[in-house]
Amino acid sequence: MALEDYEFGARRCSRDSICKFIPQYAIKDARFADCCPAISRYNLHAYSGGGRVIMANSLLQGRGEISEEVREIVFRCQLCGACQTSCHIVTELVEPLEIARELKFRCVEEGKENQALSSVRARLVKTNNIFGKKQSDRARWAEGLQAKDAGAEAVETLFFAGCRLSYDESFHPVARKSLQLMLEAGMDVGILGKAETCCGGRLFDMGYRDDFHKLAGTLAKRIRSSGAYRLVTACGCCYGTFRQFFPMAGIDLEGVEVLHVSEVLEELLGEGKVELKKAVPLRVAYHDPCHLGRLGEPYQRWEGQYVKQMGLWVAEPDREVRRGLGGVFDPPRKVISAIEGIRLVEMKRKREHAWCCGAGGGVLEAYPAFAAWTALERMKEVVDEGCDALVTACPWCETTFRMAIGESGGGGPRVMDLVELVAMAT
Ligand code: SF4
Ligand code: SF4
Repeated sequence: MALEDYEFGARRCSRDSICKFIPQYAIKDARFADCCPAISRYNLHAYSGGGRVIMANSLLQGRGEISEEVREIVFRCQLCGACQTSCHIVTELVEPLEIARELKFRCVEEGKENQALSSVRARLVKTNNIFGKKQSDRARWAEGLQAKDAGAEAVETLFFAGCRLSYDESFHPVARKSLQLMLEAGMDVGILGKAETCCGGRLFDMGYRDDFHKLAGTLAKRIRSSGAYRLVTACGCCYGTFRQFFPMAGIDLEGVEVLHVSEVLEELLGEGKVELKKAVPLRVAYHDPCHLGRLGEPYQRWEGQYVKQMGLWVAEPDREVRRGLGGVFDPPRKVISAIEGIRLVEMKRKREHAWCCGAGGGVLEAYPAFAAWTALERMKEVVDEGCDALVTACPWCETTFRMAIGESGGGGPRVMDLVELVAMAT
C-alpha cells in the first residue's frame, strides 16, 4: 500500500474531530475522554488522527511538503490506533491510523528520517534485535528449561519470546514461567533459540517498511519450517506484528495459529492443567496493550472499491470494517479473575478504547518524555480506581510504565505482567 491508496478516504474526512476522543457512549468520566496521546500532549490539531489526514491530503495534492515541522509531527505518534477505532464508529472510509503510518514510510522514503530511530534501525538490522545485543545471547533466558529446539526437531507449539523478553533480564521470569507452565501442562513446546530474531514490528512502526519485509520474511520461513501449528507469545507487540503486520506485508505463516499466552493460560486453566493454588489479595486494573487489543484484530485484505448508492458510499465487495473488536480482551481478564483474592476493576478507558502506554511507533526510543507523559496519564486512571497494581500483558507497556513511574519519583501502584501474577498464584 502507499499513501495514495488512502486518498479516496482522506478526501472524505469530515473534520469532525471524533478521532480525538473515545466514543460518546463509552465516556464515563470527562477526565478520561481523550483517546489520542499526541493531540492531548501537544494540543495542536495537526497531531490528531484527523490532522494527519489533512497533512496527507496536502502532500497528495501537492499543497505541502515534508518540512522539519511536519516530520516532527509525523513521528510524534504512537500508531496506537485509537483515532481509527473512534473514527470507524462514524465512517469506514477514512483510515487515520494507516495514513499516520504511511506518513512515516513517506518520510523514510524521502530520506527525512527521525535521527534517533535511524540509529535504532541500524542496530536492529545489524544484530536482528532492537537492543543491538549478541545473537548468541538470545536464548539465555531459557537455560535449564527442557524446551525443544524448534530449529532442529518438529514441535507442535512454538514459544516466541521476542526481543524484550529475550534480552531484558527483568523479564526473564515472565518468559521462563510462560514456557514452564506450558511444558508442565504436557504441551509439546519448542523455541527457536538462537535462530529467533526480532519480529520486526518496531521497524514497521518506525517507518522502515523494506527492512521489515526482509527481516519478517526470513523469520516467517523459520517459523514455518519448525512444523509448529501454533505460535505463542507473551509479548503484545509481537502478537500484533504476527496478526496484523505480517498479513499486511503479504507474509504468510501458512496456517500457523498465533496466540497470546493469556489465551493459552485460559485454555489450560479450563482443562485443569494449570492450578492456581495461592490467593493474591490485590485490587488490580488491567491495561489492554494496543497491539494485543484493538490492533491485535486479524488483518483482512480488501481489494475493492466504494460506489455511491442512494447517496451513500458502499463497499463492493463487502468489507470487514476494522473497529478493533477482534483483539484479545477477555482471556487476560479471565485469567486474572480466576486468581483467588484478586479484585479486578475496569478503568474508564478500556478494551478497544484503551489509552496507549506511550511506547509505540518508536516514541519510546525517539521521544521518551512524550512516552513517559502518556504512561503517567494512564497511571492517573489506575490511581483513580484505587488499585494496588496495574497488570498488563506486554513487556513494552510494562517497561514504559516503569520508566515513567521511576522518573516521576516512584511510588503508587506497582506494575506487573499477567504471567508474574499467575506465578504468584501457582
Ligand atoms: S479522521 Fe475520522 S474522526 Fe477524525 S476528523 Fe476525519 S473523519 Fe472525523
Ligand atoms: S495513532 Fe494514536 S497517537 Fe497517532 S494520531 Fe492516532 S490516536 Fe493519536
